[in-house]
Amino acid sequence: MADQTNTTQLAVVGGGPGGYAAAFLAADLGLKVALISEEVNPGGVCLYRGCIPSKALLHAARVLTESHEASRWGIEFQPPRIDIARLRAWKDEVVEKLTSGLGQLSKQRKVEYIRGRASLVDSHTLSIAGESAGERRMTFEHAILATGSLPVKLPGLPESPRIIDSTEALELSSVPKTLLVVGGGYIGLELGTFYAALGTQVTVVEMLDGLLPGADRDLVTPLAKQVEKIFGKVMLNTKVAEMKEDKGGIHVKFEGAGAEGEDQSFEKVLVSVGRKPNSAIPGLEATHVERDARGFIKVDPQRRTAEPTLYAIGDVAGEPLLAHKASHEGRTAVEAIHGRKVAFEPRAIPAVVFTDPEVAWCGLTEAQAANENRRVKVARFPWAASGRAVTLDRPDGVTKLILDPETERVLGVGVTGVGAGELIAEGVLAVEMGALASDITLSIHPHPTLSETVMEAAEVFFGQATDIFRPKRP
Ligand SMILES: Cc1cc2nc3c(=O)[nH]c(=O)nc-3n(C[C@H](O)[C@H](O)[C@H](O)COP(=O)(O)OP(=O)(O)OC[C@H]3O[C@@H](n4cnc5c(N)ncnc54)[C@H](O)[C@@H]3O)c2cc1C
Repeated sequence: MADQTNTTQLAVVGGGPGGYAAAFLAADLGLKVALISEEVNPGGVCLYRGCIPSKALLHAARVLTESHEASRWGIEFQPPRIDIARLRAWKDEVVEKLTSGLGQLSKQRKVEYIRGRASLVDSHTLSIAGESAGERRMTFEHAILATGSLPVKLPGLPESPRIIDSTEALELSSVPKTLLVVGGGYIGLELGTFYAALGTQVTVVEMLDGLLPGADRDLVTPLAKQVEKIFGKVMLNTKVAEMKEDKGGIHVKFEGAGAEGEDQSFEKVLVSVGRKPNSAIPGLEATHVERDARGFIKVDPQRRTAEPTLYAIGDVAGEPLLAHKASHEGRTAVEAIHGRKVAFEPRAIPAVVFTDPEVAWCGLTEAQAANENRRVKVARFPWAASGRAVTLDRPDGVTKLILDPETERVLGVGVTGVGAGELIAEGVLAVEMGALASDITLSIHPHPTLSETVMEAAEVFFGQATDIFRPKRP
């Protein structure tokens, strides 16, 4: 039973990038704010078991890979000695540094951070159970639901510590000799890249006919080529038909075009077949909040639910399930609560896959344009023609612009190559600002940098790019 009640203007449930961005802005705008989440500090999935630990480990993987690549430039290193305990500790230190920093920022802003699990009593009241909370009730004027998402589980799998999800893969309890990654989406490919760099023989099985569904195929091609080299095997159009634990590991039967009739055993299996909204918030049924068929909480452009006091943001409120989408929605919801006339209507939410090479895109994709029968012009600049890419010994990239042929406006941008995740920010700015191809060609880009590939792709649109020779048509 609840033993104390207090009141707040804004209660934020879930301390991920959506929740803490919302709580911090609300406090900066002068609201009394409580932020409730399950971990010691704010951070959510992204900081504790998602974006941040995975990127720390991928950075280590890149160093390992470069130490091998350097032999091509006449630099030989001793084979690396990997201290897994230290690597794990470093990754945990990164997480600790960032999450404790968020804890500090909460204190400085006088956001009341409550470690606990919240349930809804009604549209104005939360019940909070947890370590620092005891059991208490909190009434609020508004609440933002930012409870994130959970990994999808495949039905019918045996219970085994050898079958893991992304959270367990990031714990880095051991480096398996063999790893099957089920699912060719970004989380599986990123974690597969990391384990492959550590020496694990990685196999990927994907039901569809290509990796990274959602990305344009020409952006995926350079990654697919690299993946063929670093992973043991990639099986497309193939499903897992059966998994059984035996002495040596997990025995897997495959079904489909890539299966080649083989059964195989793997020391570990990483299931990364997607994520689902964490919308089973206890007590939600006591409100008017509605969910769609996939479980996402339905929201309007201000991120208000069907219950006027309740807003929802981030992974629980719809795709894409990305941290920066969550934090922007959080800011929109708070501004709406504060009475500002706002709407969440981005033209471009960037997606970045931190594999090697990286794949990034924003705005309209070529595939989307084709599906919508929309006439676009695509201008591509291959990185083999980029001085900077050659100095990095990484010409395996491409930068492309998707443009309106009439207005010459940039509608979408895609980049594959090392550092694509940083480069896509220029694309986001171009799409959001309605830049024309000439705005990009006339903006002087520094030399030698990979950013020049964006400028030269825009030059390609006009038919003349400095570093590409195209013979004149008669
Ligand atoms: C391995 C991995 C890698 C990823 N890499 C990237 C990346 O590179 N870039 C990117 O943009 N995105 C990445 N993501 C996705 C990203 O983590 C999510 O999109 C993002 O965390 C969503 O933020 P959120 O605010 O919606 O909620 P979350 O970060 O999911 O946080 C929700 C929080 O709410 C808490 N909570 C849930 N229910 C309750 C309750 N009833 N009471 C109290 N607390 C509750 C949870 O414990 C959690 O702390 C990755 C995800 C994974 C799994």
